[in-house]
Amino acid sequence: MNYQNSISFAKSLDKKDSLKNYRKEFHYPKDDNGNELIYFCGNSLGLQPKKASEQIGKEFSIWSKKGVLGQETRWIDYHERLTKSSANLVGGRETEVVIMNALTVNIHLLLISFYNPNKKRIKILIEKDAFPSDKYAIQSQIELHGLEVANTLIEIGPRKGEKIIRDQDIMDSIEKNSDELALIYLGGLNYYTGQAFDMESIASFGRLRGITVGFNLAHSAGNVPLKLHDWGVDFAAWCTYKYLCGGPGSPAGIFIHEQHHDWKGKRLLGWWGHEKESRFEMSSQYKPILSSEAWQISNAPIMGMAPLISSMEIFEKIGMETIHKKGMQLSLFMEYLLKENIPEISIITPKNRGCQLSIVVPGGRSIFDSLINNGVVCDWRNPDVIRVAPHPLFNTYTEIFKFINILKKALNG
Ligand SMILES: *Cc1c(COP(=O)(O)O)cnc(C)c1O
Repeated sequence: MNYQNSISFAKSLDKKDSLKNYRKEFHYPKDDNGNELIYFCGNSLGLQPKKASEQIGKEFSIWSKKGVLGQETRWIDYHERLTKSSANLVGGRETEVVIMNALTVNIHLLLISFYNPNKKRIKILIEKDAFPSDKYAIQSQIELHGLEVANTLIEIGPRKGEKIIRDQDIMDSIEKNSDELALIYLGGLNYYTGQAFDMESIASFGRLRGITVGFNLAHSAGNVPLKLHDWGVDFAAWCTYKYLCGGPGSPAGIFIHEQHHDWKGKRLLGWWGHEKESRFEMSSQYKPILSSEAWQISNAPIMGMAPLISSMEIFEKIGMETIHKKGMQLSLFMEYLLKENIPEISIITPKNRGCQLSIVVPGGRSIFDSLINNGVVCDWRNPDVIRVAPHPLFNTYTEIFKFINILKKALNG
């Protein structure tokens, strides 16, 4: 597209935007004087859908009026209200996804099943700059097997002097270590650089070599389209409070490919994974549900799921292709304006991405502070990156234009 460096052009893009009305479906944050902020932190905590409180209110009301009777009529299968939309979100079958627990908890549950070191294969390929929680989870899982982290982890990072990982380097590392790798575990989209990985190629390349492949989709879910089933991904996990706007600490999602549903391996059990028809017979003989739901342990956090139902309805209605397209257009417009107006800023996020741009700004932290003081909500990640993520459902091209001006002023002191 031919962009123009003007506010009237930004406004014209907003006018033409087919998703423009969705902003009204969210509560938009304001400063103390009632002016709207520029909220570019949907990659960290998505905004509150206006229907969320009504959705929670419904459950509160049923609880107050019916007590435990609410369980039988409503809550026992409450998580199933999120099944279809979650399946569409990640490109899975409905039997392949469940919303449960929190992200790192789910990563542990999945690793218990899917990390199976044996004499020949013990190694795990991860990103050098993986999110810390993933690193801690992996390290502790390795130690649970009585193995040493140093002998087990293969960390793949950017080459010296580069900021992002080359796709070819990932493939080369898999190839080189293919006899020793038990597991490939990568983020679908790196939280720090905003780089999206070629999950399809990684999954098929790994699986052809007999390696289990899992992805952390914390920054992919709700940002980029996914086809986990068709790609043959073994397992994946994501949180729902970032792009998906489920609210702080909202329950997370898992995907387990259907080829694993008749599972004979290790798995941590709880009653919510038990066959539904006979669950309340309270037998001591465990009979698993033959789907991803067998990985559930406890009954669902209803109040946590209620807001997510409101936001997932929006994602389901629009679809990820359209949402990603808008996210890309927002980030392309921002990239254009940065290059036109502030060429001294470097953008480390490659074209293979969603809506987030990670930028390195001369003056670093002090510029970030100045952005915050001027009504821009974005985040700082050590050592030198500012992450800005214009969310396709509630941010505008005009906000991007205003952001660039605020940034330019901050740089000019
Ligand atoms: C946000 C994020 C997490 C957070 O984990 P929680 O268990 O939800 O606290 C983990 N991994 C990645 C890659 C993330 O982006």
